[in-house]
Amino acid sequence: MSTLLIKNAAIIVTMDGQDRELIDSGIFCRDGFIEKIGSSQDLPNTADTVIDLKGHIVLPGLINTHHHFYQTLTRAVPAAQDANLFHWLKTLYPIWARLQPEDIFISTQTALAELALSGCTTASDHLYLFPNGSKLDDEIEAASTVGLRLHASRGSMSLGESKGGLPPDSVVDDEETILRDSQRLIERYHDPKPGSKVQIVLAPCSPFSVTSELMRQSALLAREYHVHLHTHLAETEDEEAFCLQMFGYKPVAYMQSVDWIGDDVWFAHSVHVNQDEIDLYAHTGCGVAHCPGSNMRLASGIAPILKMMSAGVKVGLGIDGSASNDSSHLLAEARLAMLLSRVGSGLHGASLSGQDAPPIMTARQVLSLATRGGASVLGRTDIGSLEVGKCADFIAINLNRLDYAGALHDPVAATIFCNSVNVDLNVVGGQIIVQNGHFLPFDLSDHVQKHNQAAKRLLEG
Ligand SMILES: [Zn+2]
Repeated sequence: MSTLLIKNAAIIVTMDGQDRELIDSGIFCRDGFIEKIGSSQDLPNTADTVIDLKGHIVLPGLINTHHHFYQTLTRAVPAAQDANLFHWLKTLYPIWARLQPEDIFISTQTALAELALSGCTTASDHLYLFPNGSKLDDEIEAASTVGLRLHASRGSMSLGESKGGLPPDSVVDDEETILRDSQRLIERYHDPKPGSKVQIVLAPCSPFSVTSELMRQSALLAREYHVHLHTHLAETEDEEAFCLQMFGYKPVAYMQSVDWIGDDVWFAHSVHVNQDEIDLYAHTGCGVAHCPGSNMRLASGIAPILKMMSAGVKVGLGIDGSASNDSSHLLAEARLAMLLSRVGSGLHGASLSGQDAPPIMTARQVLSLATRGGASVLGRTDIGSLEVGKCADFIAINLNRLDYAGALHDPVAATIFCNSVNVDLNVVGGQIIVQNGHFLPFDLSDHVQKHNQAAKRLLEG
């Protein structure tokens, strides 16, 4: 039994059903779960660990629904800086083919450290190539050294160039091996219980790198074990043209044809979807990982997120990349989501009276996407809000800082409108990962040196 008390927080954003924002409040946690939340004077006086958060805002831990941790090794690669998705991939595949198991390990630690410092407490990662003996186990083991919750997607590629796919044959695997390894990983690691630290997801990479048969077989296996399915979908116009030519369907219709529609499925991107496809997502429970930074970086387009939200689609935020971002800062991603949504809103043409103004995304809406939205996409009811019985996953930011000077009329909005800062406190299941702005699990300066050595070796071949 261990207890944690945070008290005197200036404001706690609960993201509960009533969207309560509590003033001068605290949270009492026992064994990783929230036992009480409310006014500081109504909480127990003491606990095994007590943290005074005077002058801080507390938010539910942010949830990242799409990432490729290994790509932290190939950020800002010169030849891939100014390319669209297909060119970017063709440039990077041969570099990624040199990944070693220790590269998966070190890049996972790097991405998760950045995520922790930027307010993330649960991350989904999509690892879809396994060269030179690499395994998803390398990532899962590395994640355990940081302490964030991990939804580890067992990605896959089976449609190489020789069969009409995009990736070179050297980075694709045979389907029997993929399915056998997927089953092994589920049986070894998947924990569906409340408070779970590791869940396995089956995630063939994309329509242009996987056969229809592997899509179907992955869906059958996932449903046998009640694990989620994830892939990239409707990211670019090139992908749509590929799907029409290769399969005779647009991307969403192709997903229907391989039984990849349902509330156990979520898609990264969905930039190029029409209203009928949005309605299909809403009615069937398909989720979307919105990755605004990557969509801007690769000039993929603006995903119609507000339309998805008003239709009732489950939407969370994702980092993507990190080689198409080139960051793993989740709070910054939330800021980008709000800003990019406004670029595409048509607000600039509205009259001064505002009577014809289109809806635009607000700071509180984007915080909702980053927390409970992400939880719903991952199929979790134990995270995403601060309520009794939920996981003790929260972050705190000191409001008395240069970045927020002049913005304290609305501290909640300041976290999104103002500079995207690192958090001062990050707690996952009652375990402190970041305290006073310091990342506790391991020494970062030593780690960054090792990461840069690995990145250099990878690029030089
Ligand atoms: Zn991606």
